[in-house]
Amino acid sequence: MKHFKRLLACSLAVVMAGSILVACGGSSTGSSEADDSSAETTEADAGSGEKLVMATNATFPPYEYVEGGEYEGIDVEIAGKIAEKLGRELEIQDVEFDSIIGGVQSGKYDMGMAGMTVTEERKQSVNFTDSYASGIQSIIVPEGSAIATVDDLSSDTRIGVQQGTTGDIYATDDYGDGAVTAYKNGADAVQALLTDKIDCVIIDNEPAKSFVEANEGLTILDTSYAEEDYAICISKDNEDLLTEINDALSELKADGTIDEIIGKYITAE
Ligand code: GLN
Repeated sequence: MKHFKRLLACSLAVVMAGSILVACGGSSTGSSEADDSSAETTEADAGSGEKLVMATNATFPPYEYVEGGEYEGIDVEIAGKIAEKLGRELEIQDVEFDSIIGGVQSGKYDMGMAGMTVTEERKQSVNFTDSYASGIQSIIVPEGSAIATVDDLSSDTRIGVQQGTTGDIYATDDYGDGAVTAYKNGADAVQALLTDKIDCVIIDNEPAKSFVEANEGLTILDTSYAEEDYAICISKDNEDLLTEINDALSELKADGTIDEIIGKYITAE
């Protein structure tokens, strides 16, 4: 674990997220139909007060992905519950991860929810709600790789990441531009790893597990690269929505809904 400073910055949110966790019923599909045409060209209905427009990048299982033409996942379900509490209809816009914050800032989307890590730098651009989940940056390598721990990474390692993610930002900080190749999404990075174009992929642990399960010959290192908190980002011009969503989140935490949704997708080890 290299990123103690980042951990410290997040510890308060972790304490808050870890409050009252009681199991109880109530499930929801929370999904809405995935549109095959690029959502980026679709006009979003943000700011209407009737819809709650969520920007996400649905290539990030188990938080958001498309299955059978529907958006599924932890974030999709939690967003559905939040929209219900706000009396608004959830609309999902599937866009590139690194265009979410800009679109939220400009008011194109009401909120961004995409397994998004709270960072000091992003906080300069948007507000974050209280954290609803925690994440880990993990390292995927081919089985039998010479890379056995984080300490084996260096500026000579060919590191693959998803563009604009914390894995990208931290690895570029630590090992330099020359070591890091940024791919559009995690699946492309994993494909490059399978074809020996890179030596490892740094990505959030839950998607890492999905990719390793789906592809033979890959494994996740035991040592994590960084620990993080996920939260929803909202425009700094929309403090009311921030308060409303934080209230909804705190109710959903208190009555066990969030735990139940996460537990559906992630089994405790
Ligand atoms: N948690 C990472 C980040 O916020 C990756 C999120 C993602 O790829 N959807 O940068």
